[in-house]
Amino acid sequence: MAWQGLIQQYRAHIPLAAAAPVITLNEGNTPLIRADRLAEQIAPGTGLQLYLKYEGLNPTGSFKDRGMTVAISQAAYEGAKTVICASTGNTAASAAAYAARAGLRCIVLVPEGKIALGKLAACLAYGAEVISIEGSFDDGLRLVRGISQSYPIALVNSVNPWRLEGQKTGAFEICDQLGGRAPDWHCLPVGNAGNISAYWLGYKEYSRGWPRLLGGQAEGAAPIVRGRVIEKPETIATAIRIGNPARWQQAVAALDESDGLITDVSDEQILSSWKQLASLEGVFVEPASATGVAALQKEIALGHLDPTGKTIVCVLTGHGLKDPDTAIKMATLPRSIPATMEALIGVVSE
Ligand SMILES: *Cc1c(COP(=O)(O)O)cnc(C)c1O
Repeated sequence: MAWQGLIQQYRAHIPLAAAAPVITLNEGNTPLIRADRLAEQIAPGTGLQLYLKYEGLNPTGSFKDRGMTVAISQAAYEGAKTVICASTGNTAASAAAYAARAGLRCIVLVPEGKIALGKLAACLAYGAEVISIEGSFDDGLRLVRGISQSYPIALVNSVNPWRLEGQKTGAFEICDQLGGRAPDWHCLPVGNAGNISAYWLGYKEYSRGWPRLLGGQAEGAAPIVRGRVIEKPETIATAIRIGNPARWQQAVAALDESDGLITDVSDEQILSSWKQLASLEGVFVEPASATGVAALQKEIALGHLDPTGKTIVCVLTGHGLKDPDTAIKMATLPRSIPATMEALIGVVSE
């Protein structure tokens, strides 16, 4: 049967009431792409089997759609008329799309000037009420948590447990795509830490084996690595520019239980992995999405992670078109030639 979204696919694992409506954009079922050229760069001659779970191919361009289909379905079931979230952009775009489909009002709080262009454009197109706050993501989360306690507004940030119920299906898909087993290592960026918590829930629930988790944070926004709140988080990877993760304790527990690792990488390392993904594998992601790959490279180089013969999955959380500004800043701009055959021959025979 044709894919009809992850609730339909994994309903037995998602505790939605039978009478709950299914608000879906047919999210999930994203490709698991073998990345041999990248593997050869990262760990030559080790027989590393590297895979990329390309979550940027979800309907609004990020993995956030997995959690949002469930959270909005539940909100609609509970009779909510308005949903709200704080967001670095992708949660907002996803909430806005699913809310539009459910006929709900959607209010999103974004940190002023720190939201990538593709995310803002999408939120506005979906008809969300976008409010830019003079503060960080963490400030926004504090505000929306407060307001949802005193007003009849459903909070759809990943503190909402229904988000994790949807996001955990990423782990189910990876096991299915690997022929019914979990990878040895599972690498991903860590911002608010909802995704790492959800993946660990998913692997435990699906019982096809348990990977070790490798979380990557950006150097300027690495509260879990440092063990303290970062007051003014800074990184080019805006999706993980978070100083006080809501799921901090759950992430630490998942890392412990899986015998995992968490590490921080510089913006240069993130951009280098970002570039490699596109130029070696043809996979274009937003910068934050490359953080898992950057963390993997770092931990292999430091000897903390032996890739020999291992199956390793890196989750690529969002699409490259989300952040066209960074992509263009990183690029050599196109050269211009006269529209003549001579000029073209001159270029191709250089
Ligand atoms: C939300 C997001 C993250 C971080 O996920 P958390 O669940 O907050 O840890 C990473 N990358 C992208 C592209 C995101 O949208």
